[in-house]
Amino acid sequence: MENSAEILIIGAGVIGASAALALARAGHDVVVIERNSGVGDGSTGSSAGIIRVHASDEQSVAMAADAVAVWNDWAGFLDAGPDEHLARFVRCGSLILDAGNGFTDRAAESMRAAVVPFEAWTLAEMAERLPYLDFRRFGPPVPIDDEAFWSEPTEYLPGALYTEQSGYVGDPTLAAVNLMDAARRAGADVRLSTEVARLELRAGRVVGVALADGRRLSAAAVLVAAGPHSDALLRSVGATSDFRIATRRIREELVHVPAPPGIETALDGVHLVDGDLNLNFRPEHGNAFLGGSNGDLPEEQTVVEDPDRFDRRVSAANWERTTLRLARRIPDLGIPRARTGVVGLYDAAEDWLPIYDRTCVEGLFVAMATSGTQFKTSPVVGELLRHVIESELEGRDHTTVPFVAPTSGRSYATEQFSRLREPRVGQARG
Ligand SMILES: Cc1cc2nc3c(=O)[nH]c(=O)nc-3n(C[C@H](O)[C@H](O)[C@H](O)COP(=O)(O)OP(=O)(O)OC[C@H]3O[C@@H](n4cnc5c(N)ncnc54)[C@H](O)[C@@H]3O)c2cc1C
Repeated sequence: MENSAEILIIGAGVIGASAALALARAGHDVVVIERNSGVGDGSTGSSAGIIRVHASDEQSVAMAADAVAVWNDWAGFLDAGPDEHLARFVRCGSLILDAGNGFTDRAAESMRAAVVPFEAWTLAEMAERLPYLDFRRFGPPVPIDDEAFWSEPTEYLPGALYTEQSGYVGDPTLAAVNLMDAARRAGADVRLSTEVARLELRAGRVVGVALADGRRLSAAAVLVAAGPHSDALLRSVGATSDFRIATRRIREELVHVPAPPGIETALDGVHLVDGDLNLNFRPEHGNAFLGGSNGDLPEEQTVVEDPDRFDRRVSAANWERTTLRLARRIPDLGIPRARTGVVGLYDAAEDWLPIYDRTCVEGLFVAMATSGTQFKTSPVVGELLRHVIESELEGRDHTTVPFVAPTSGRSYATEQFSRLREPRVGQARG
């Protein structure tokens, strides 16, 4: 067995890259193994890159707010050189419509608890600030072939929450590349076009990995950050046997729709969270909108059994559904002819919270079930994973000591990210 590393990370998505950076900076000997030829080409590459602070629980809000501070100082966080090509955080604000389903109340309560600022807008304020949107109540969301979808609304939405600090990163792959370049500068060894075939165990502990090319690498600890492939890797050695949280892979489509004449999305655009029409959109360069469903209609979700086999084209059905819903909210939109967008996989937990934890196998750690929400928090998640791995390697149960985010000094209880938690009730994808 080739002697490889103290800590071996499987996967060079935004989470593996962030963990590599935090661990390498802390002085660990880190090797990252990635089967693709580039960094950030898995689910990270299809991410909408939305960085929003609202969520249905306090810790998710707090971590997002801590991450926003990092995205605002990306070059400083990375200690990047003056010529480095860096991902850019664009602040556009998030407008979370009050769809009458209780979500805005929960989000407001969570933001208050996390001491994260937000505004409550009245209908008059919404109409004045975003005059191109029709704020009539179309919901609750129904399929577009339901007659109710086409009926004329008789009332208006009562209001919305607005978080001016939210925004997006238009090139999520570049953000992962930036993190990994910083990890390399801190000493991490990144091996691309190298696939892990299986985890190697001896006497109940992980001792390394076997590669698809037949080589074997040893490691004192292995972090599985393989996105939608994590479950299969862990399951094959029985490492999910004590999980209380079920996970699944969900195919997610984002559509790219040109803005109608008269709207400059770079100036007038907002990240719209629309539980009334089951939409979630943000401005996209080229004067367009990028977005998809809000996840509120489970019957519109497609579960994928094999993460290597799914259709990467935007489907006619989804395109029609999403653009028609968007056209209700933006009456001048029209229906564009070209069907363009992005398709990727969510590695989703049943309660839409990630799993950042050890496993029942000694030395084997996991960062999975990022549930369509963890691009935004990734710079903080790397440090959280460092906390989990360092504590456990030193023989301490990481859950007994809170994680303190180095960038903010804020404390987090790690129980929320445990594989052993009871699924959170009432948690929304948001
Ligand atoms: C369509 C879509 C929209 C999203 N929008 C948002 C958003 O707006 N905001 C937000 O915060 N989050 C969003 N997300 C979620 C976010 O993108 C993910 O949570 C995040 O990118 C997950 O990163 P990861 O590193 O865990 O996984 P990945 O990026 O999938 O990385 C895992 C890596 O592991 C590699 N790998 C797998 N198996 C092996 C193996 N056997 N050997 C070696 N390498 C292996 C893969 O090639 C891959 O590069 C979205 C996700 C999708 C799919």
